[in-house]
Amino acid sequence: MSTPVDLLALDRSDPLAHKREEFALPEGLIYLDGNSLGALPKAVAEHLEQVVRQQWGRDLIQSWNKHGWIELAERVGAKIARLIGAEPDEVVAADSTSVNLFKVLLAALRLRPERRVILSDIDNFPTDLYIAQGVRQLLGERHELRLVKKDQVEAALDDQTAVLMLTEVDYRSGWRYDMAALTRQAQEHGALVIWDLAHSAGAFPVQLNACNADFAVGCGYKYLCGGPGAPAFLYVARRHQGALLPFLSGWMGHRSPFDFDPFYDPAEGVQRMKVGTPPVLSLSALDKALDVFADVDMEQLRRKSLRLSELFIEGMEPLCAKYGFKLLTPREAERRGSQVAYAHPEGYAIMQALIAEGVIGDFRAPNILRFGFAPLYLRYRDVAEALERLERVMAQGLWKAERFRERAKVT
Ligand SMILES: *Cc1c(COP(=O)(O)O)cnc(C)c1O
Repeated sequence: MSTPVDLLALDRSDPLAHKREEFALPEGLIYLDGNSLGALPKAVAEHLEQVVRQQWGRDLIQSWNKHGWIELAERVGAKIARLIGAEPDEVVAADSTSVNLFKVLLAALRLRPERRVILSDIDNFPTDLYIAQGVRQLLGERHELRLVKKDQVEAALDDQTAVLMLTEVDYRSGWRYDMAALTRQAQEHGALVIWDLAHSAGAFPVQLNACNADFAVGCGYKYLCGGPGAPAFLYVARRHQGALLPFLSGWMGHRSPFDFDPFYDPAEGVQRMKVGTPPVLSLSALDKALDVFADVDMEQLRRKSLRLSELFIEGMEPLCAKYGFKLLTPREAERRGSQVAYAHPEGYAIMQALIAEGVIGDFRAPNILRFGFAPLYLRYRDVAEALERLERVMAQGLWKAERFRERAKVT
C-alpha cells in the first residue's frame, strides 16, 4: 500500500483533478457508487432550472422548435457516440436500457429469421435475461435462450446463433469481455452481437466501430451522470440501419411524424428506433451532464480508473487476509471495468456499516460488496480514506450492530 503522502502527490499530478469541482458532492463523503448512480454535475441543476422556467414555463410548446427539443435525443446521442467509439448518427438517447434492449433484440432477430438461438451469459444482468425471455415468448417460443458461463460463450456459438447478447462488464465482479474478439467470433458464425454498455459507457473508452459492433445499448444514469432514471441510449451500426425494422413502431420513429400519415414509414437511420415523445426534462439533465466529458481524454480517464482500482485492490490485501474478504475482480487490467468487488459472508451488514462511516459502495446478493471508481470525481486520497474507514468497521466490529442487518428495498 502506498503511503498517504504518495497519494497526495498522485492527486497533485492528476491531469483530471480539476474535474471534481464540476460535481456537487457532500463534504467528507467518499462516493464509490458512481457505477450505480453517477454524481450530480453542478451545471445540471442550473440548466434544469432554466429549461423548466424559460423553455417550458415561458416558451411553452414553441420550445420543440425554438429550443430544439425535437432533436434533443439525437444531440444527446451524438455526445454519447464520442465516448463509445461510434459516429454521431449511430446513437440515439431514449427509453430505458431494458426497453432499448427489447427494441434492439427484436429488430436484430428479424435480420436473422432462419436462426433459432439467442446466446447470452447466465451471469448477465437479470433485466437483460428477462427481456430476452419476454422476447422469446412474444415470438411464439420458437427460439432457444442459451445461457452459458462466461468462459463458454465462444464455444457455444454456432451456425444457429441468431444473436449474441452480452454485457461487456459484469455488474457484480467487474469482469470485462474482449469485445473485439467476441464480436469477430460471433460474426464468423453469421450471428449478430448486442453489447450492453451499462458499466462501460463513461467508465473507459469503448470502441464500438473499431470492434465492428452491430448493436449496443447502455445506461444514462451510471457513469454518464444523467440523474436517476435518466434516458438510456442505443447504437445501431450504420450498415444495419436501413434494414432494421422496429417492432415498437411509434410516431417518433416515423419518417415525418407531423404529416400524421396513418401508415408507418420508418425514419432514416437510427431515429427509427425512437418510439414516443421523449422525456425532455430528463433528457436535458443528461444532455448537460455529458458536457463534463467534453474536454476529457478517455484514455487518460482509463489510466486513472485503473490506478484507483489497483491502489484499492492492493490496499485491501491485508484486510482480505485479516477479515476474509475475497477479491472477485480480475487483477489483469484488460479484463476489468472500473469497479472492484469482494465476497464476504457478512457483506450486507459490512456495507451498511461502511456507509454509516461515510463511504458509499453497494451490495449485490448474495454476498458481494461492490466499489465503483468514477475517475472524474474521485481522488487518490479517497482510496486511502475509504480503506481506513473499512478497517475501522472491521477492527471495531461496527458491522455487528443490529440496525445494519435490516435489508432495505434497494441495496
Ligand atoms: C444498470 C443496468 C441496466 C439497467 O436497466 P434499466 O432499464 O435502466 O433499469 C441494464 N443492464 C445492465 C447490464 C445494467 O447494469
